[in-house]
Amino acid sequence: MFSTKVCFRNDDVNSLTDPLMKLTEIFLKRKVPISHAVEPGNVTIDTIKWLKQLKSKDPRLIEIIQHGWNHTFHGKGEFGGRRTYEEQFMDLKRGKEKLESIFKEDFFPALTVPWDLYNQGTIRAANLLGFKVFCVHYDYRISRRLFYAIGHILRRGQLFGKSISHHLKYYPGTQILQVDTAISLIKKYFDLFGSECDFFSTEEVLAAFKRVRKFIPVVVFLLHHKYHQDESHFQLVNELLEELQHRKNIEFLDHSRIYEEYQEARGTHCLSNSMGRSFP
Ligand SMILES: [Zn+2]
Repeated sequence: MFSTKVCFRNDDVNSLTDPLMKLTEIFLKRKVPISHAVEPGNVTIDTIKWLKQLKSKDPRLIEIIQHGWNHTFHGKGEFGGRRTYEEQFMDLKRGKEKLESIFKEDFFPALTVPWDLYNQGTIRAANLLGFKVFCVHYDYRISRRLFYAIGHILRRGQLFGKSISHHLKYYPGTQILQVDTAISLIKKYFDLFGSECDFFSTEEVLAAFKRVRKFIPVVVFLLHHKYHQDESHFQLVNELLEELQHRKNIEFLDHSRIYEEYQEARGTHCLSNSMGRSFP
């Protein structure tokens, strides 16, 4: 049986709430890393203190990455749409600078964007600002994989406004490794801004994992702590981790370790590019 690496990413980290603490506690107790995508413009002092404490106690179990700037909805999403390169650059820059100044080397420069929406201006800005990882979404369905294959041949990050997943490869024209989420625990959101949703069952999530791992060696699960409002939602996470931890061929890691492992591809990529180029 082939082995799969698994990563858990939790978005929308701002205030220090019970769901945030309770969800994190499950991961800490089980010694499974959780990657918190922090909203730099909204993160509170309490959350900062809490994250720093956790990180100093269990550095390998807590990862701090960036989730946009402040989750403002600009018509389509926080990024992309009609927003200019300059506007997006300023938001990403102030977000990254804030997280770097607060968390120093405990911040890993991976960027996730609210609602997975972005445009080429977002990517250009992220690349210039030195983000190492960019995260959107990988969809394993055959129609999407065919669409991605076309995008890979054309070396495009987006086609007709839709994302091409370059999961575990460099986003075309950048120095940024793309690490996409493949499985969400949430089946349906009832609105863009609330905390009401339908979750998948543990069996449904495990069935999705069984399918997805046939196509990609690193599977990222997406969590949104604010939707975990009752005990059954935490139970789902517990059962999922219990099941995954009992399998021998699964390794848990975070974005920085995925980057360490897959950045080698960049070395090869740069080498072949430079070898193919005629020097002036
Ligand atoms: Zn978000």
